[in-house]
Amino acid sequence: MTYCVLARKWRPQTFHDLVGQAHVVKALAYALSQDKVHHAYLFTGTRGVGKTSIARIFAKSLNCETNGVSPNPCGTCQSCQEIADGRFVDLIEVDAASRTGVDETRELIDSVAYLPTKGRYKVYLIDEVHMFSKSSFNALLKTLEEPPPHVKFILATTDPDKLPNTILSRCIQFSLKSLTDRQIQQHLHHICDSERIGFEDNALSILAKAGRGSLRDTLSLTDQAITYGQGKLTVQAVSEILGTIHPADIEAIVFAIATNNANQLSAAVRRLDQYDIDAVTFLTELMQRLQAMAWAKEGIVNSLSAALSSTVHDIPKPLLHLWYDIADKSLTQLHQHHDAKQVIEMTLLRMLAFIPEDWVPRHRTLLADTYSDDSDSNEALGKAEVSADAALNTAPDAPIESAPIESAPDNGFAQHVKSSPVDAADSLLAAESEFFDQAEQAEQVERCDTPETATSSATPGVSEIGATEIQSNSAALTLPEITQHPEIPAAPEHTATESHPYNLSNTPANDNDPTPSMEAVRAVMKSARDITAPAEMPAEMPAEMPAEMPAEMPAEMPAEMPAEMPVEMPAEMPIEKDTEVLSNDRIDNKVGNSVDDGGNSSENNEKNDSADGALLSKIAVFDWFDAIENLGLSDFTYHFVSAGVLRIEANQGRADAILDLLPANEVLVTPDSMTELSEALSCYFAQPINVRVNYTDIRCETPAERQKKAQVDADQAVITAFTQHPIVQQVVNEFEARILTNTIKKMDKKPS
Ligand SMILES: [Zn+2]
Repeated sequence: MTYCVLARKWRPQTFHDLVGQAHVVKALAYALSQDKVHHAYLFTGTRGVGKTSIARIFAKSLNCETNGVSPNPCGTCQSCQEIADGRFVDLIEVDAASRTGVDETRELIDSVAYLPTKGRYKVYLIDEVHMFSKSSFNALLKTLEEPPPHVKFILATTDPDKLPNTILSRCIQFSLKSLTDRQIQQHLHHICDSERIGFEDNALSILAKAGRGSLRDTLSLTDQAITYGQGKLTVQAVSEILGTIHPADIEAIVFAIATNNANQLSAAVRRLDQYDIDAVTFLTELMQRLQAMAWAKEGIVNSLSAALSSTVHDIPKPLLHLWYDIADKSLTQLHQHHDAKQVIEMTLLRMLAFIPEDWVPRHRTLLADTYSDDSDSNEALGKAEVSADAALNTAPDAPIESAPIESAPDNGFAQHVKSSPVDAADSLLAAESEFFDQAEQAEQVERCDTPETATSSATPGVSEIGATEIQSNSAALTLPEITQHPEIPAAPEHTATESHPYNLSNTPANDNDPTPSMEAVRAVMKSARDITAPAEMPAEMPAEMPAEMPAEMPAEMPAEMPAEMPVEMPAEMPIEKDTEVLSNDRIDNKVGNSVDDGGNSSENNEKNDSADGALLSKIAVFDWFDAIENLGLSDFTYHFVSAGVLRIEANQGRADAILDLLPANEVLVTPDSMTELSEALSCYFAQPINVRVNYTDIRCETPAERQKKAQVDADQAVITAFTQHPIVQQVVNEFEARILTNTIKKMDKKPS
């Protein structure tokens, strides 16, 4: 059996089969059903959008032996079948590109006079009619104006501007639209299902995009990809034959930027080496992702991967637009450069360079905030303001992000933006132009500046726009800067900085200098071994811990970085961090979580009855939602790990961590991040923990989901508190006011 290419095999046979072009079908079907068919039609539109297909269906509709002239040809009579096969004598298909001479046109026109051989009508399909010479057009004119009644003309062209007006005015013109990616993808899906071709959804999406609106081009590429992929349509095969970048690879790059992770970015860029990279394609793809993220930021998500959409919440709007501008600028300047890869890398680095130094994704504080339970209506009202310029509101939800950290209330990106959103956007853009203007700004690119340069010489736009949060992923480097930052007032007890997870995990306690708090924690941990109800332990901690944290710890630590750290430190760490970083409200809630989840952990324990008791009790109180906040993970690792569920299984005194993760997130799992997670857990449990990833459907709640839900609840609580406040209600009743709930946002403190 001979192989028939998809484009031919799947050429539509009825108007109903046509993809898109509903406006043309509607008009033609009406004319056919009323038997009021004009004698000349002109179809314009790019290649592969259905011009020839429509002409053939039209010819069938006129010549069908069974149904007569109608929009529903039978498809089975001899005429219908011959037309479908392209061998119907009264359908004359002419390629104007190959018959430009006037003699050939005359010959064609002479044949018009003869009656149809078989059918009711002779249908002349003249493709690429704009290729006719001037004399050919002139020869055609007379016939086109008054053809014999048994003749219908269908002219098709991709370039109607080249047609003389005299021709245009004698035809009914239809402009065929390019097909949308979605239309093409759906059709491909249908074809693959019918042909039983295995496919990955993303592969279809790439093919649909590559066809650029042409179904025929797409189907040709699909044929090629099926052959290359040995009968299957995989993203890998399709990317390779098209020379496009694997979507996962470009997403990993955007993700690394969105989580401000230079190491991951470097790894992701290295993966690009496997492609013969086309800078234009790359930058366009990059901009597409940023555009989708900008839409997601406005609450409209359509084509964003789960991993990327999880980051959107954290990224300040102006930053997203700045990144887009940076990519756009590179794209326009690309032709001036010889080394495309260099341009790409510098573009990506520039994006990182403009991330405010102390900007930290919100999820680090979100739980602490939204779980604090102090939002009675009056207070919440005090925190709400109605913003008239929602359009300019650069970070409508940002204030919540930094709200709870009372120790450093005046330094947040959120506050800055809230107080003057326009300023924030302006200053980011101003920072950008300064970058291009001033060579000395190079200092800023270096993320580990000395405190002086970081605080005094950085441009105001960049240095001021930073999150309050201190848990930066580069905290080990920026720590000195933060502690000495003049704008962060020293907290009454301990600044959050001192308890930074990185600080602790990288700079373990000096064993010769045990602090009272450590002792206290050890006592608690010991007592935990005997506690059967896991919930009790955390409940005790807050009371003992917070006041005792030694303020001088960080100062002493760094120099000592001993290799034995995991053995000495870990048991205390998470607890210290909890008690310090978080508000009391947060801790209370955490206890609640532990109670909820302790049950699950206990079940795990029972399976391992031979396991060590101490380890068991630690596992018993292990609460993933709580632990993830205290592992001190980098943003990159935190992001994908929080989309999963981690369990600890103990066996013969050993403990293994199993991270359930959706298969879609596999691309984010790098050796670096797995090592990081493993080390963090080893610290947490004070013993080596191996982590393995289990790709599976996740049926229970993940930290990422809980954060999202908490965010939604918190937003709703503010809206409710505001709209139900007596004063607001009074205004509404007396002045018939209307509340624009989407402009209500929570402020971190009451306006003075
Ligand atoms: Zn028929």
